[in-house]
Amino acid sequence: MTDVLVAGAGPAGWAIAGACAHLGLDTVLVDPTPDRPWRSTYGAWQGELPAGLVGTVATGGHGSAIGTVAHELGWYYTVLDNGALRAALVSPGVRVRTGQVRPGDSDGAAVVVDATGQRRALLGGARRQPAAEQTAVGVVVDAAVAAPLVEPGRVLFMDWRPRHGERGWPSFLYGVPVAAGRVLLEETSLARRPGLGLAVLRRRLRTRLARHGIEAGDRAEERVRFVVDTPLPPRRVRNGPVVPFGAAAPLIHPATGFSVAAALRLAPRLAAAVRDGLDTSGPDSHRGDSPARAAAAAWRTVWSRRALAVHGLRRTGLEALLAMPPQQVPEFFDVFFGLPERHRWAYLTAREDLVGLAGAMRALFAAAPWPLRRHLVLRGLDFRDGPSEPDAVKQAQ
Ligand SMILES: Cc1cc2nc3c(=O)[nH]c(=O)nc-3n(C[C@H](O)[C@H](O)[C@H](O)COP(=O)(O)OP(=O)(O)OC[C@H]3O[C@@H](n4cnc5c(N)ncnc54)[C@H](O)[C@@H]3O)c2cc1C
Repeated sequence: MTDVLVAGAGPAGWAIAGACAHLGLDTVLVDPTPDRPWRSTYGAWQGELPAGLVGTVATGGHGSAIGTVAHELGWYYTVLDNGALRAALVSPGVRVRTGQVRPGDSDGAAVVVDATGQRRALLGGARRQPAAEQTAVGVVVDAAVAAPLVEPGRVLFMDWRPRHGERGWPSFLYGVPVAAGRVLLEETSLARRPGLGLAVLRRRLRTRLARHGIEAGDRAEERVRFVVDTPLPPRRVRNGPVVPFGAAAPLIHPATGFSVAAALRLAPRLAAAVRDGLDTSGPDSHRGDSPARAAAAAWRTVWSRRALAVHGLRRTGLEALLAMPPQQVPEFFDVFFGLPERHRWAYLTAREDLVGLAGAMRALFAAAPWPLRRHLVLRGLDFRDGPSEPDAVKQAQ
């Protein structure tokens, strides 16, 4: 008798499967390659990580973000040790199967979780326009070699100065320690529709590094391409037996591309919603309508009204960024990283804090010079009167 079937063994799939098993739910996890190591470099703010997972941090540091000038971030940024993270999430209570879950498959489970990443293999959903993507190309070098760009022991969250020597779509340098004495230097396009080509980013990275005498040579590259504007699941499937999670939800923050920490934090709440809704006291035939109640509670946990409202505003913010004249982008980040800490934190991390997000956007608007304000107003981000929750929810739909 299966309570929960989780499709997808990425960080989100393992987080929710482990949390369900921990609460005594009979849980099956299915993935075509369940043991495949996670290869991406996952970063997160330390303050976003659940306390129990702080031990899975590989490395990190305090650091800065540069628009045209440097701003101290104030928080500790971490890079996760993927092996340690997986070991912390994997639960012996989860039954792991190799295979591909298809739409409609449930294996008799009361609730199915679609944690299949941006493909969202079970819930699907058409998009109206090409995807906006984050793309990046990075190489790992010795910390001493990277020192002219990233101070040893510190993090360079973003450097928007166009020291890659090209006009056109803006990209920034991301520099983080990934292991003792090793630093990832990554030329990143935060978002573009469609994604900025990897060949362009590779060329820009090489130019940027060459200015400091760093040869990229034939080092192995980290290549990044993922969608930052995955639409919400279609209305017809909402509150149904299949619940989206992780990048499939989509939990991806449209303006940063981050989702891993959000999934790790949300997984225990999602598992509790399923456990509270589901009658597990007898055989399957005695469950009555409890699977439907459990699934509806799970949907409300992932997509509460507040989360929908925040998502709507974040998506509007993404569209404003996508339409921003390239020369305004570094200036925009100067304004953003110059905001007080609470506003930046609300904007970057809080999934359900509409008041905090609206406060951050109002502060951004107030601090922005007129040309930037004009752009924000034209893009629907006029915060002089503050956004209303119903409007923001509508934007998310
Ligand atoms: C290179 C790179 C770097 C990134 N860096 C960061 C970062 O620093 N911080 C951050 O928060 N996010 C980052 N992201 C974005 C995002 O958080 C990641 O994509 C993350 O892997 C999403 O986790 P997930 O578990 O939701 O999905 P995934 O990791 O994509 O896992 C989905 C799983 O579902 C499986 N699957 C697919 N179809 C099926 C099916 N039909 N049945 C069963 N299983 C199926 C796949 O095999 C896969 O194992 C990065 C992404 C990339 C590509």
